[in-house]
Amino acid sequence: MSTAVSAPPVCVLGLGLIGGSLLRAAIAAGREAWGYNRSSGAVDAAVADGFDASTDLPAVLRRAAASDALVVVAVPMPAVDAVLATVAEHAPNVALTDVVSVKSAVAAAVAARGLSARFVGGHPMAGTAESGWDAGTADLFRDAVWVVAVDDGADPGVWQQVAGLALDCGSVVVPAESGEHDAAVARISHLPHVLAEALALAGAGGGDLALALAAGSFRDGTRIAGTAPALVDAMCEGNATALLAALDETLEVLRTAREQLADGRTGDLTSAGHAARQRYEQRERKPITGIVPGDDDWIERLRDAGRRGGVWTS
Ligand code: NAD
Repeated sequence: MSTAVSAPPVCVLGLGLIGGSLLRAAIAAGREAWGYNRSSGAVDAAVADGFDASTDLPAVLRRAAASDALVVVAVPMPAVDAVLATVAEHAPNVALTDVVSVKSAVAAAVAARGLSARFVGGHPMAGTAESGWDAGTADLFRDAVWVVAVDDGADPGVWQQVAGLALDCGSVVVPAESGEHDAAVARISHLPHVLAEALALAGAGGGDLALALAAGSFRDGTRIAGTAPALVDAMCEGNATALLAALDETLEVLRTAREQLADGRTGDLTSAGHAARQRYEQRERKPITGIVPGDDDWIERLRDAGRRGGVWTS
């Protein structure tokens, strides 16, 4: 259900796939919303599509400060600090969130700019291998999971604003502490990117014959290797510690599988992998009830609910 009646305006910084989709989704939900993009091409395209967009970041931020908007940072990690520096200069007291794929590094950058008091990080678990304004759609986040960070000191009012925006975009909210988010996405997002790149290389290593024979398994297993390398680099490098741990664990699994294959059997890997896939398919989204942001222990209770697969739906 839309929260548009009481919801604040939304100011989106970066109008690529995610930010452009967010601007469209916020407008579709009845929000007042506008955006900034560094390059005029995306701004011209957004304006031509009927949206309110500008290349003037200070002006966009002053408008956000004047209207108490929720500001959303939607640029790649390497560009985050420069954007935050401008936020600190022109709109230091706005409610602030982001959509960046890593959370600890963004929280640290926000703290370094003195913006933590009204910051609650976010990460919509939605996307495609495309980039830029033209790739965006208003329904990109529909039925997706949107992580909203529950870090120490989080402002409960801002937390509810960020969760409300996610719900307005059609997502359900999973509360998670930033470090726990990073460890989890290393496993289910960043590691898959590394493995997809490696698999694409293995296929290409077989030359034109192997690629000519490639069908569904290769196509599906390498789909995300089609993502722009710079975006993958930003995700992986921004979450290197957690990704290294997940990669080490997986290399150990592969090493064991290799040893077993040399002995003529692969059963341990295939049965364990099949069971793990079934656990994923059978996961449930249990609605979180009885927790009010701002009440005693709300941060720890939301973290715990998120760890147990709970979702915030209202
Ligand atoms: P994108 O390439 O489609 O858009 C990136 C946007 O950032 C563009 O509008 C670009 O103009 C702008 N930008 C780049 N460098 C900039 C700079 N130095 N200063 C100002 N603006 C700059 O990428 P995207 O997929 O929309 O990713 C945006 C954010 O969303 C990233 O932080 C990414 O981690 C996160 N994210 C991506 C996905 C995904 O699947 N693509 C999913 C969830 C979150």
